[in-house]
Order: sequence, then structure tokens, then C-alpha cells
Amino acid sequence: MGSARRTNALNTIGPHRQAPLGHFISGRSVEGAGSTTDVLEPATGEVLGQVRDATENELNDAVAASKAAFAGWSATPGEKRKAILHRVADLIEARADEIAEVECLDAGQCWRFMSKAALRGADNFRFFADQAPSAADGQSLPSQHHLNYTSRSAIGPVAVITPWNTPFMLSTWKIAPALAAGCTVVHKPAEWSPYSARLLVEIAHEAGLPPGVFNSINGLGETTGKRLTEHRDIKAIAFVGESKTGSAIMRQGSETLKRVHFELGGKNPVVVFEDADLERALDAAIFMIYSLNGQRCTSSSRLLIQRSIYDAFVAKAAERVEKLKVGDPFDPATEVGPLIHPRHFAKVASYAAVAATDGAKVAAGGAPVAEAGGGYFYQPTLYVDAETHMRIAQEEIFGPVLTVIPFEDEADAISKANDVQYGLAAYVWTSDLGRALRVSNALQAGMVWVNSENVRHLPTPFGGVKDSGIGRDGGDWSFDFYMETKNVALAYGSHSIQRLGV
Ligand code: NAD
Repeated sequence: MGSARRTNALNTIGPHRQAPLGHFISGRSVEGAGSTTDVLEPATGEVLGQVRDATENELNDAVAASKAAFAGWSATPGEKRKAILHRVADLIEARADEIAEVECLDAGQCWRFMSKAALRGADNFRFFADQAPSAADGQSLPSQHHLNYTSRSAIGPVAVITPWNTPFMLSTWKIAPALAAGCTVVHKPAEWSPYSARLLVEIAHEAGLPPGVFNSINGLGETTGKRLTEHRDIKAIAFVGESKTGSAIMRQGSETLKRVHFELGGKNPVVVFEDADLERALDAAIFMIYSLNGQRCTSSSRLLIQRSIYDAFVAKAAERVEKLKVGDPFDPATEVGPLIHPRHFAKVASYAAVAATDGAKVAAGGAPVAEAGGGYFYQPTLYVDAETHMRIAQEEIFGPVLTVIPFEDEADAISKANDVQYGLAAYVWTSDLGRALRVSNALQAGMVWVNSENVRHLPTPFGGVKDSGIGRDGGDWSFDFYMETKNVALAYGSHSIQRLGV
């Protein structure tokens, strides 16, 4: 683990390793006085540094800064917001390698995927920046006696709470539309991978974002996250993370009637029919579960294969899984890196006993990597001959673990695909157009890809149904969340008004 890229990453976060990583409030760095948590390097288990848990006063300062900045930022002309956010994108592009290296270091993500992820963060800023000038536009809805028109305005200071799996890209996805809409932001990144969020807020200020518009506070979910979601001056919460955390946040925000947007867990099915292009289906299924170390919300964690092609498909899948290159995330050849943290590693590893009890068969992997050198490496794992009631077919493992289930026909495939609490993404492989449409319509998922892996197109809606989320990101859906819609009704003076007390 001694590559030049790792050295670069250590240098990039160097200034934030000398003392515990604090916060960024009102355009300046705040050391912080709260308790600290170690940040670990997933590939080696080494301590990279410490991160602070914000004190209540520090959290209140961040919210107060976002409240104070709101009037100015929301009134800033859309064209000006657009220009600043494009400058943010320019600076992200200029530092894309550095950001990607930091993601490899503290999130353990592989360079081969991260080198594009930072650039996607820049794309997110550009896409939403372009819509800033028209974000407030509404509709004209005339009736016989009134001219109704609608307009939108930014909802207020918002909280953005993000997870550790692809921290930079996910943060930009939420923060860029909030800023484009005219909201001010308090961001709380995940405590296990906090460094790239610090780069983002520094870049945003270098690009000319006024102080207080975007604040970043570090801390634990149960203290800082909870206080942020309970704060009266925060008007909406955009949250990405686990389903049970979503429930907790909904409770925490209920007292102050917060608007919430949740992107939560998944147990996404890939349904492969016998008439599919099986080579491409295999490529996509393997890519979607084993890339990003299996820590991907839209991962293809359940593979449903039609019985007639089951044995041959599973044999090929097992061969591919055995050959996956596990190792140093900085090595461009590595396909699967470490899990994020010992706690998450223990969770993923615990499913070996669960699978054995359930009676599933191990076709590949199924154990920690023997010579992990202190890192949290788990073997790419393939469970076959599983049944939908098994826990490995129901629960989000969030690691490089694929559960394969056979099905008989279209009806059986739909029933098995829908037989989980989650409903984020689904993938269908068939060459029969009618079947593709029928199955897509019947699947309980917010997003369905037909004959494709997850390919994000920013104007389209992203989000889940059932326990996978509330609300949609992307296109105008993001603006609808971060803005309030107002209707104004102007009378033509032609309608009669009831005259009481005459
Ligand atoms: P998590 O829910 O444990 O934590 C996410 C964030 O919430 C962290 O910043 C954490 O500190 C904070 N948090 C925890 N408890 C909180 C509380 N009570 N109040 C406020 N904030 C709190 O999730 P994680 O383990 O970091 O991430 C993995 C999960 O994220 C998986 O379930 C994955 O599917 C999901 N995810 C979903 C999407 C999506 O788009 N649907 C994308 C990526 C990840």
C-alpha cells in the first residue's frame, strides 16, 4: 500500500491530520472543542487522524450562519448563483485527482471507479447550476374569473446528511441543487470518511460562495446529526443512508414539521430471462455488486435467474467472482477494495453464519481475506440456490456479496423480485420487448433499468419506493424539494362576491 497516489492523498489531507478535523462555519475553519473519533484507513487499519463531534454551540453556530446568509443568497440573481456554481465545478475538475485519491484513502474505494466519481461531482454542479436562473419559474393557470400564477422560492436553510460509501459524489448530488435553488446548507458528512467533504466546502468558498451559505459540521449521527435534524431553523432534511436512520430522522424532525427527502437502502434484483443477452447480463450483474466494494445503494445484490439457464449462468458467474482482483484501492488494476470500517466488516462477515443457517450454498468466497495486512478485506462472495425468505435474500448486506435465486417464469420472477421490504432499483434482462415492459411495470422499484446496469442521467428521477426512500432527486424533482411553491390568484373583478350582513 505504498503507492504515489496514497502519498498524494496523505499530503492532501495533511493539514487536517495535525489536529482533529473540525468544522467549516461562515466561511472559515473552526477547530471545534467536542469529543473526537479516529478516522481509519480501510485498506490498512491505520489511524489517519481524528474527527470532532460538534458541540451543541458549534452546531447552533452553523445553523445560525446558514440562517443569516439565507436572505442574501436566496435573493442573489439566478445567473450569479449559476456562475459561482460553475466555478465550483471548474475547481472540482482541477482537483479531481486529489479528491479521488482522498476517497481511496479514507473510504477505501478503488481508484478505477473513483477517478470518474469526482468528475461526476463537477457534472452535478454544472447540471444544477444551469437551472438556477429558471428555478423560481412557475405556471400560469387561469380560471374564468382569476389569473392564477405560481412561483417558487427557496425553502430556507437545509440540512444535508450523507453516508460514507461514495462521500464526495453523493454530497454534491444534494448540495448542488440546494445551492442552485437559493437554499443555504449545513452539511454533516459521515464520520468514517470525512475528508473529501472538507475539500468540497473549501473549494466552494474558493469559488466565491459567500460565507454562511454552505457550512460543514462534523460529528456523530446520534449527537450532531440528531441535533441538526431537530433544529427549528432548519427547514428541510436531505438524507442519504440506512432505512432505520431515515425512520429515526423522521421522528426527530417531526416536532418541527420538517420536509424530508430520504434515499435509503436497497436489495435490488437483477432479473435475467433465458432470452437475454447473457454475456452482457453477466457483465452488468457482476459490475453492479462488486464495484464500489459492494457498498452501493443500487447494487445488484439479488440475482434472479430463469431455471432453464440457471446452472450455466451460475457457473460462469462463479468463475468471474473467483477472478476478481481484490487489493490495494490505489492500484488501478484492483476491482474490489476493503470494507469501510471494522464495524461494517463485522456486519458483512456475520452473514456467513446466517447463510449457513439459512441453507444457501457458497459458490465463491464466503470469508474474510486471509492476508489482509490489517485492512478490512472480505472475499467477493457468491451464494447460490437461495430462496427469497432467507435473510441473505432479504437484508441489505452492503458488501461484495451476491445472492442468487432461481425462478420459473415471468410471474414467479415478479413475485420473487418484489418479495422484499426495499424498492430502490431493479434490473431486467430480456430480448422480448413486451416482457420488458410488463415486468418493468410490475416491479416495485423507483428505478428500473432494462438490459443495462445503473447509468445515471441527471434529468431523470432517482429514488426509491417502500423502505428505500421518500422523494426523488434529479431534474426538477430536486428543485421541488428545496423550494416552496406559491399560488397567486388575481381577480379580473368580474365574479360576484357574496354580500353578507347587508
Ligand atoms: P447511516 O444511516 O448509518 O449514516 C448516514 C449518515 O446519517 C451519517 O452521516 C450518520 O452520521 C448520520 N446519522 C446516523 N444516525 C443519525 C441520526 N439519528 N440523526 C441524524 N443523522 C444520523 O448510513 P451509512 O452506513 O453511512 O451508509 C450506508 C447506507 O446508505 C446503506 O443503507 C445504503 O444503501 C444507503 N445509501 C443509499 C443511497 C440512495 O441513494 N438510496 C445512496 C448511498 C447509500
